[in-house]
Amino acid sequence: MKFIRYAKNGESRIGVVEDQMVRAIEPAVSDMVELIANYDRLRGEIRAVGEAMPLDSVTIEAPIPAPRRNIFCVGKNYHAHAKEFAQSGFEAGAVAGAEVDEFPAVFTKPASCVVGTGDVVQLHGDVTQSVDYEIELALVIGKGGRNIPKAKAYEHIWGYMIVNDVTARDRQKQHKQWFLGKALDTFCPMGPWIATADEVDPENLDLETKVNDEVRQKANTSDLIFDIPSLVETISAGLTLVPGDIIATGTPVGVGIGFKPPRFLKPGDVVRMSITGLGTLENSFQ
Ligand code: MG
Repeated sequence: MKFIRYAKNGESRIGVVEDQMVRAIEPAVSDMVELIANYDRLRGEIRAVGEAMPLDSVTIEAPIPAPRRNIFCVGKNYHAHAKEFAQSGFEAGAVAGAEVDEFPAVFTKPASCVVGTGDVVQLHGDVTQSVDYEIELALVIGKGGRNIPKAKAYEHIWGYMIVNDVTARDRQKQHKQWFLGKALDTFCPMGPWIATADEVDPENLDLETKVNDEVRQKANTSDLIFDIPSLVETISAGLTLVPGDIIATGTPVGVGIGFKPPRFLKPGDVVRMSITGLGTLENSFQ
C-alpha cells in the first residue's frame, strides 16, 4: 500500500493512495510511526473508507513530519556522483583516484529539517550561497534491531520513499564534518508517500530530478555502490534501529556542483523528484 499523510479541513490523517486518489483509512491512525510500529497487528484490519479524493484536492504533509531521531544518510554511494563530488572542489580532503570509499560514509540530518511535498525550502541566503539538491531513495525501518545481518536486512524495512538531501555545499566543505551543511531548517523534504516494501523492487528503481523542468539527475538504484542490505548491516552494527527510522541511500550524478561552473538553486526554482512507484516530491526554493 501507499500510505500518505494529508490534511483536509484542518485535520491531519493517514490515507492510502491509488491511481492519484486518496482515501482515509480505518482504524484511524494519525501517526505514521505508530502505524509502522503496530503494522503486523493492524495490517489485516486496515481498509480504505470514505470518498476517494484527488491528491491535488488535499494538503499533503511529510509522511513522518517529526521523526523520533535524526535521519541517517549515506554519502558518495553512486560511482559517477562520487567522481563529480571529488572533482567539484567541494569535498573536504578529496584525494584523486580514491573517489570510492572502502566503507560507506554515514551522517545524519536532524529531524527539525523535515518538510513535505509542496512546502517551501529556505535558501538561507544569510548563511550560504550554494544550496544544492540530491534525490535519494530512503528506507523506512519497520522491525527494529541491532547487528542486523545483510541476509535479514529486508525483513526490517517497512517501506520506501523519496528524500531530497538538500545541502549547503560551502558549509559541507568548510566544516569538514557534513552535518552543518545538511542540517538547515527545511533541508529534508520527503514524500509524498511511503510505499510498503511489498510494492517496491528497491534494487531496480528509476530516479529522476528536474529543476524547472530540466532533467538534472537520471539513474537507477541498481547502480548503488553499497547496496541496501550492506547499509542496514553497517548502520545497525552496535546501534539499535527502531521503527520509523529513515535511511537515505545516497544520490546519483547530476547535482549542481557537477556542472562547471556549479549551478546552485536560486529563489523561485522548483525541484521535482520522482522514483518508480514513489510519486513525485516537489518543492520550490526561496
Ligand atoms: Mg546525500
